[in-house]
Amino acid sequence: MSRVYGAVNQTLGPGWYDYEKLHIEWNVPDRYEIVRRVGGGKYSEVFEGVDMSNEDKCIIKVLKPVSKKKIKREVKILRNLTGGPNIISLLDVVQDGPSRSNSLIMEYVDNTEWRELFPTLTEPEMKHYLFQLLKALDFVHSRGIMHRDVKPANVMYDRARGKLRLIDWGLAEFYHPNDEYHIRVGSRYYKGPELLVGFKKYDYSLDLWSVGCMLASMIFRKEHFFRGRDNEDQLLRILKVLGTDSFERYLEKYGLFIQTDNRALLQSYPKVPFSAFGSPTISREALDLLDKLLRYDHWERLTAAEAVGHTYFNNVRLETTSKSTERFSDSGFCST
Ligand code: ATP
Ligand code: MG
Repeated sequence: MSRVYGAVNQTLGPGWYDYEKLHIEWNVPDRYEIVRRVGGGKYSEVFEGVDMSNEDKCIIKVLKPVSKKKIKREVKILRNLTGGPNIISLLDVVQDGPSRSNSLIMEYVDNTEWRELFPTLTEPEMKHYLFQLLKALDFVHSRGIMHRDVKPANVMYDRARGKLRLIDWGLAEFYHPNDEYHIRVGSRYYKGPELLVGFKKYDYSLDLWSVGCMLASMIFRKEHFFRGRDNEDQLLRILKVLGTDSFERYLEKYGLFIQTDNRALLQSYPKVPFSAFGSPTISREALDLLDKLLRYDHWERLTAAEAVGHTYFNNVRLETTSKSTERFSDSGFCST
């Protein structure tokens, strides 16, 4: 059972979480024109487009043929979350007549690709983006939803405006306490230990492991902090950093066993302090936050709200408060 927001879906009721009952009215796509391809993955081809009715830029995410159920889940979750802090907005859903391909029309972000962005981030920028990501996740979790694919490429960064948007809701799912979930989610380098040892009753805290991996990659300037060749090797990379003592306690606590022929996975490794991975200029607060996110035991990990309150973000929280006060006083002077 999750430490927070456990009963949210029960309280909000089936109208909120029962996505299979959703009937989607698809609009015609005539308003939208494709400008250029900006990305794509296993489940989609993504284009920059224009909404010809108002000349606004938009994103056209053309879904590859997947089950109706999966499409309903993505649309339901996007509709539930649109308007929330730093969540990408869903603007429209359209279906092409002859090909019957389904597309999601989304808010456009002038994204700087993370591979280009991360190596050049300043320390205040790292804090800013991580803080905004955690705010998004706390909101998502408070609405009973786990993202399940948090990684640098599923976050859009508009550097000129300091804007961040959490995207790609294709693997997101509603959290119901004690339900068992598929462990084949996420992207390898960002998969939490629960996915690698087969613990199916995971919860929102899965997303916080992935945030920990992103924090590590930013502060240590490493493209991926844990870079496994396959899922077993991924677990091994983690064991060699966090050590095997707390791993054994974790397995025991949840009654888990690992079945493997890989002898390296059965050996003992000492815990390596995070300070060993980067320059001595990395702040104690950053290392402390990392230590509290990268825990095998999901129950011990900070929640998104707790992470937002961590001392690492002290000055970001202050800035955010003073900015909203400024805006408040601005509007106070505005009489038009
Ligand atoms: P994957 O299987 O790779 O996780 P996917 O098929 O589920 O991806 P998305 O992650 O939603 O699709 O989008 C794929 C790529 O398209 C993103 O990594 C990004 O480069 C681009 N993209 C998606 N949405 C936007 C947006 N709103 N603004 C700018 N670029 C976007
Ligand atoms: Mg993606």
